[in-house]
Amino acid sequence: MVMADTTLMDKLVSLCKRRGFVFQSSEIYGGLGSVWDYGPLGVELKKNVKDRWWRAMVHARDDIEGLDAAILMHPRVWEASGHVAGFTDPLVDCRQCKNRFRADDPRIKGTPGQPDAQCPVCGSKGTLTEPRLFNLMFKTFMGPVEEQAAVVYLRPETAQGIYVNYLNVLQSSRQKIPFGIAQIGKAFRNEITPGNFIFRTREFEQMEMQFFVKPGTDAEWFERWREWRMEWHRDLGLTPSRLRWHQHGPDELAHYARAAFDVEYEFPFGWQEIEGIHNRGDFDLGRHQEFSGKKLDYFEQAANERFLPYIVETSAGADRVALTILADAYREEQVEGETRVVLGLHPALAPIKAGVFPLVKKDGMPELATSLYHDVKRRFPSFYDDSGAIGRRYRRMDEAGTPFGITVDGETLTDRTVTVRQRDSMQQERVAMDRVADYIGERVSGE
Ligand code: ATP
Repeated sequence: MVMADTTLMDKLVSLCKRRGFVFQSSEIYGGLGSVWDYGPLGVELKKNVKDRWWRAMVHARDDIEGLDAAILMHPRVWEASGHVAGFTDPLVDCRQCKNRFRADDPRIKGTPGQPDAQCPVCGSKGTLTEPRLFNLMFKTFMGPVEEQAAVVYLRPETAQGIYVNYLNVLQSSRQKIPFGIAQIGKAFRNEITPGNFIFRTREFEQMEMQFFVKPGTDAEWFERWREWRMEWHRDLGLTPSRLRWHQHGPDELAHYARAAFDVEYEFPFGWQEIEGIHNRGDFDLGRHQEFSGKKLDYFEQAANERFLPYIVETSAGADRVALTILADAYREEQVEGETRVVLGLHPALAPIKAGVFPLVKKDGMPELATSLYHDVKRRFPSFYDDSGAIGRRYRRMDEAGTPFGITVDGETLTDRTVTVRQRDSMQQERVAMDRVADYIGERVSGE
C-alpha cells in the first residue's frame, strides 16, 4: 500500500508508543526535547542491534578488542580532540521573542544581523542577532564547586575513550598493529535542530570501532571497512535499494578526516546518514601525544620501525540503526477487507520471537499451551496470549514484529502437533510440540 511519507513517520511513532517500543522522555511533565525512552519492546530491539554489532565486530574477529570507557573524561581530552574549539554550530537569537535558531535555518528570510532579517516565529523584522558560535557539548561540574576549573563534559562521542586507552588495550591484550578497539556507549550533543523522532536526539548511543594501522596501509583498510560495514547493514534485512554511499567532498570533510564516506538510508524524510567511515590519519594520536606529553607511538619489531598509527573509524548510532530497521519493516496490507499492520523485522532482531496461544480456553488447551510457552521462553523471549479471537492475537503479534505464532488446537490434543504461523506469509504448518523450540532456534539464530 502506498502511503504519504509524513504519515508513515506519524504511524511509526504512534505504533512505537502503543506497543511499547519508544516513549517520550518525562512525558507526564510534557516531555523533554528530543530525548526518548525505550519501552519493553524497544529495549529488546536496540539490544539485539547492539549484540549483533558486538558479535560481528568483536567476537567474530581476532583483531578487535572491546572497551567500555567512562562517559566523563579529563577536560583536556576535549581540547586535544578539537571539540572545545570546533564542535560548534552558528546560531542566531531573536531579541523580541527570545527564540534561537541555526543561522542556516531555511525559514529565516533575509540576513541575520541586518534590518531585513525576519524572525520565523514572531515575524519581527531586524530583531535577529548576528550568528554566534554555540558549542554542542553538555557541560557539568565535578565536585561541589561550580567554577570553571571544575568543568567536565558529557562526551559527544565515544571515540576519545578509545584513543586515550589504545596503549592500555594494546599492551594488555598482546595485540599487534593492525588491530581495532570497539565500544558501545552513550554520547550527548546539545543539538540545535533535533528531530525526526529517534533519528537525531540529544542523548544517544554510538557503536564505534577504531582500527589502528600502519601509515601507508590506511587507504586499503579504509576500503575493506567500507565493504564490511555496508554488508552488515544489508544483513539486517534492509531493502538494498534504500542503502547507498555518500562520499564527503573537500568542503564537507571534518578537520581530522583524510577521507570519509557515510552509509545513508532512505528514510521517509529523505536520504540520511546512519554510519560514518572515516580515515582519520594520525590526527587523534598526534593530538593526544601533544596535549598529554605521553609517547603514543608503536614499535614494529618485524620492521624495526617506530610510527604513530593511522586510524580508520567506523561510527554508527544504535538509535539510528533501530529507527532504520523500524522504518524499513513497517508495512500495511489489506487482508480480507481489513488493514493488517506488520513489522517485518528480521527474526534475529525481533523483540519477541514467538507468540504462544491456546485456540480456546478449554479442553486442556491452556494447560498444554502454558507448558509449551514455558518451554519456549527458556530459550527465547516469548509471549503468551489467550484473550480474544485467534486472528486478533495474530495481528497483535504482527504489529510487534513477532515472526512466529504457535497455536495449540484440537489436533494438538490427539497428535501433539501445533500450528506454526509465519508472520510475513501468514502460512501455517504443523510442527511437533517437542520440536517447536528447535524450529524457532534454527530460524532466529543470529545470521
Ligand atoms: P549528523 O551530521 O547526522 O549530525 P554527524 O556526522 O555529526 O551526524 P558523527 O559525528 O559522524 O555524526 O556520528 C556518527 C554516528 O553517530 C552517526 O552516523 C549517527 O548514527 C550517530 N549520531 C550522531 N549524532 C546523533 C544524534 N544527535 N542522535 C542520534 N544519533 C546520532
